[in-house]
Amino acid sequence: QAKITGRNRAHFFDADLDEQVRTHHNRRTEVRAAVRAGELRLYYQPKLDMRKGRIIGMEALVRWAHPERGIVGPMEFLPIVEHSDVIVDIGEWVLREALRQLQQWRSYDAEWVVSVNIAARHFQRPDFVPKLKTILAEYPDVPAHMLELEILESSALSDMAHVRNIMLDCQALGISFALDDFGTGYSSMSYLKRLPADVLKIDQSFVRNMLVDRDDLHLVSAVIGLARSFGLGVIAEGVETIEHGAMLMRLGCDLVQGYGIARPMPPSEVQPWVDNFGSADVWQAAAQLPPI
Ligand code: C2E
Ligand code: MG
Ligand code: MG
Ligand code: MG
Repeated sequence: QAKITGRNRAHFFDADLDEQVRTHHNRRTEVRAAVRAGELRLYYQPKLDMRKGRIIGMEALVRWAHPERGIVGPMEFLPIVEHSDVIVDIGEWVLREALRQLQQWRSYDAEWVVSVNIAARHFQRPDFVPKLKTILAEYPDVPAHMLELEILESSALSDMAHVRNIMLDCQALGISFALDDFGTGYSSMSYLKRLPADVLKIDQSFVRNMLVDRDDLHLVSAVIGLARSFGLGVIAEGVETIEHGAMLMRLGCDLVQGYGIARPMPPSEVQPWVDNFGSADVWQAAAQLPPI
């Protein structure tokens, strides 16, 4: 009796696994089809220099405009394809679309640097740099220094020497690099020493809790200090309130991004939003807030 139960259970398990594999395969096929059908969109989230009171850039964040489900966020479909070449197709689409948008904004005199997130698998491909050059050449009016790439620490774990070379090649073109979600990985320090990053992007989980959690405050402060000693730029993400901004400015980080400034928005809303945002007086005034 026990044996049969055991076998049945094994059988059920296999069927389950089979089902999971099939579902995963179907979902991947679905995402690939969405890319080909032109269902991807880029939303943009502004980056603010609090001290200057100026918007300095936009992070491009991919969305899936699903015919039935509406706007779907990247965490719901990128993980499905991150180990397949679909992530490369998405990455190349995102680069082209961001450059196209940059070209359009430039024709209106908007001088925002656009940041694009690059997946590890895409970034590590041997043809990443030649392909990037080809794409840049399609947008001759956009100088490469207006493009910034955001990579995760995990992008570099497998082969740091290779990643370092890719970064140097891109930087030779004028492109800059931000290390995204900085502080969440387990080798942030050795990473810094070996990779030619331009900017550290403090992870939002630390920023969000820094006013209530001393450890997070120390972490934020330490990353800002690291950036300063290495001569790098630093930006904080996940800034949801003026108090966050005030604390960051006091710690020496003037650049911020987060729902407190603006949520990611479709490109048609960007220019009107910036016009309305004006001189960002509130954020400049944050520097005068009393210590918390
Ligand atoms: P990320 O690059 O760290 O982007 C920040 C994420 O935090 C975005 O979520 C943004 O909407 C969200 N966020 C920004 N400010 C706040 C805030 O104040 N509070 C909170 N709670 N959240 C905030 P999103 O757009 O869902 O993107 C999630 C992640 O997906 C990104 O994290 C990035 O790793 C990845 N991703 C997005 N677009 C792309 C892309 O085009 N290519 C690749 N490879 N990855 C992408
Ligand atoms: Mg990012
Ligand atoms: Mg991040
Ligand atoms: Mg993230």
